[in-house]
Order: sequence, then structure tokens, then C-alpha cells
Amino acid sequence: MDRVPEVAVVGAGIVGLCTAYALAERGTAVRVYESGVPGHGQSGGQSRIFRHAHDDARLVEFTREARAVWDEWADRLGAELVSRDGVVALGSTVPGRLRILQDAGGIPARTVDSAELHARMPLLADYRGPAMLDEGGGAIRTRAAVERLADALGDSLVTDEVISLYPTGRGTVEVVSSVGREEYATAVVCAGVGTARLARNVGLSLPVQPAAHVRLTFQVRGAPPERVACLQDSSGDFGEVGVYAAPYPGNSRYAVGLSETVEVREDGSFADAEALTALSDRARAYISHALPGLDPEPVERLNCWVTSLPWSEDGMAVWEADRIFFAAGHNLFKQAPRLGRALAGAAMDDELEENLRPAAALGQPR
Ligand SMILES: Cc1cc2nc3c(=O)[nH]c(=O)nc-3n(C[C@H](O)[C@H](O)[C@H](O)COP(=O)(O)OP(=O)(O)OC[C@H]3O[C@@H](n4cnc5c(N)ncnc54)[C@H](O)[C@@H]3O)c2cc1C
Repeated sequence: MDRVPEVAVVGAGIVGLCTAYALAERGTAVRVYESGVPGHGQSGGQSRIFRHAHDDARLVEFTREARAVWDEWADRLGAELVSRDGVVALGSTVPGRLRILQDAGGIPARTVDSAELHARMPLLADYRGPAMLDEGGGAIRTRAAVERLADALGDSLVTDEVISLYPTGRGTVEVVSSVGREEYATAVVCAGVGTARLARNVGLSLPVQPAAHVRLTFQVRGAPPERVACLQDSSGDFGEVGVYAAPYPGNSRYAVGLSETVEVREDGSFADAEALTALSDRARAYISHALPGLDPEPVERLNCWVTSLPWSEDGMAVWEADRIFFAAGHNLFKQAPRLGRALAGAAMDDELEENLRPAAALGQPR
């Protein structure tokens, strides 16, 4: 590294990687601390859903802007980062969410009849209830995104755990890591489940709720469809009211999870040790009813921590203390490039965007 970095980023999940890349875009020297393997925390595993549909119009706008940054970076990094195969949503939430999308203007989303639904989602069983298609949504190529961003950051990305960080009182931030102490102009903490602990060290109490989550991946029966949309099912027609699913690159595998998570205590222990197994059994039962296009024996399993904010399962916010920024929320993968640019801007002395301040409760249904 030629220059002493100005900004420390803690965590190389998708949010930290995007923040560091956005800082590098601005010509800012950055160091990213990652205690494990980049992209193996909440950002782990192949595939996520990029959807515009949210219950908060401000978040719809944020997501639209995020899609534009994904597309810009895909061109620059030379890889598809989000597919163009759309997202279908089923159930009684469809009319309300569609109204918000249509009010936003310019987002190609519409109701679909059963024939079009099954053309877009050929793995799905017969379904005749409310359905919509978000044509500008698709599957995020998570591995490609993590790899390309990490490659672009090169030796700015270091394997090192941040033990604590604090303001020095001289307008700078000291970062204490496993192997050293360094001073920076500012720091951005994107440490997933580790963020709340680091924030407590500087007197901030973040209302982050940690939980455990399980997602199963199934093989598509026969030849993979040429196009297959992501799925959000809140219909209850197949026995569950909160299911999401997304194809892997090449469409031969499909990952399925229940939105429901398993609560954990503050120390990370489970109140019900069997709860994760029960959730994965329910996901298997769901696919045997809803997705006959999949072989019902899972080929992969992802057990993972997730963090969320109390006002929405899509909630997101940034806390600040003396030039240290702490980002938290859930379902952040799709938002990460736009959030990363906002964090980079805040770190480089632009004001933190009003919508990202905790008081704005971005994502809260309204
Ligand atoms: C199964 C599953 C499905 C999901 N589906 C979707 C979806 O469809 N769409 C969507 O948009 N989002 C989805 N999400 C949520 C999304 O993946 C996460 O919100 C996002 O990946 C969070 O990224 P992050 O960078 O904030 O956190 P993380 O990916 O957890 O990254 C934090 C990093 O910080 C590192 N770290 C922690 N403490 C320290 C420390 N002290 N020092 C150094 N490094 C540290 C960790 O090792 C980790 O790599 C899903 C999540 C899961 C688990």
C-alpha cells in the first residue's frame, strides 16, 4: 500500500466490501479488516434476491438506486452481478406492494396471470392467487460480487480481527487489532453480528436483534430452465406464509428458506436447540408442496446468523459516534452498493444521509 490509509473498514461482508470499493472509487486510501474469509458471514453462500418491493417508498427508491450501482459495477468489474430474470411474489401482500412500486414510477412491476407466472417460474406448482412480477429484480450473483470486489481491493484487504476502536480525542480514530494499533481519519464498521459489540465500546447501544437462520438448496429436476425468477411467497397456499427462494447461476439449483428465524439470547445461545432443525423440516415440506420442479432432497444447507432492526425485516440504519460509523440491518445484500456509497460519502465528510439516520427508521412500513 503506497499511502497510509485514511479510512478503516471493519468487516469484508458485502457491505464492508462495497463501502471500501466506493471509497476507492473516490480515490480514498482504505484498509479493510476481516477476521475470517471475505463474504462468509451473513453474506455467505451462493445467491440472494434483488427485489424492489418493500413496504416503505423510501426504501423502494433506495433499492432502485442500488440496482443502478450494481449495473455500473457489473460493467466495470466484467461480471454479471444481478440476473435479469425477475422476482415473482405471491399472496395478499401483492396489491399493497405493487401500489408502492407503481407510485414510485419507472419500476417495471405488474400483476401476472397463472400462465405467465408459470412461464416465469416453471418450478412452481399450480397457483391461482394474487401474483406479481418485478421485472427489474433478479438473483444476485453473490460469489461473483464478493470475489470481484475483494480482487479489486487487493492488498487493502487484510486478515486481522478488530478488537476495539475508539476516538482519540484528536479528531482521529484508533483501531486496535489482533496484531497492531493504527490511527485513521475515520472508520466504518460493517461487522455484521460483531457490529453491536464494537459500538458498545464507544457508548452506543444498537437495537440489533441477532437470530439464527437456515436455508436449503435443492437440485432442479431434469434440464435447468433457461429463465427462472426468484420467488417470494406469502400466500399460505403451500403451508407457509413467509418463503423466499432464488436460483443459483446456471439455474440447476434453487435455494429456499423461510423468512422466520430462530431467536437467540444476547450471548448467542438458543432458547430452543431444536428450532433450526424444525425450520429446515418446514422448508423441505414446503418445497414438496410448492416446488415440484425440485428434487426434495437438499444438496446444500446454510446455517447462518442474521441481524435485524426492530422496525422492519428490511430495516437499515447507520449510527455515528465521533467519526466512527456503524451500519446495521437485514436484507442488506441488494442494498450494499448504494449503502456503501452512502457510507463512503459520510466517511469523507459529506453529511450522513437523513434517511439512514436511526430516527428515520428506513424500511418501516408507512
Ligand atoms: C440465508 C440468507 C438469505 C438472505 N437473503 C437475502 C436476500 O435474498 N436479499 C438480500 O438483500 N439480503 C438477504 N440476506 C441478508 C444479507 O445477506 C445480509 O444482510 C448481508 O449479507 C449482510 O452483509 P454484512 O456485510 O453487513 O455482514 P456480514 O456478511 O456478516 O459481514 C460482516 C463481516 O465482518 C467480519 N467481522 C466481524 N467482526 C469483526 C471484527 N471484530 N474484526 C474484523 N472482522 C470482523 C465477519 O467475519 C464478516 O465477514 C440473506 C441472509 C442470509 C443469511
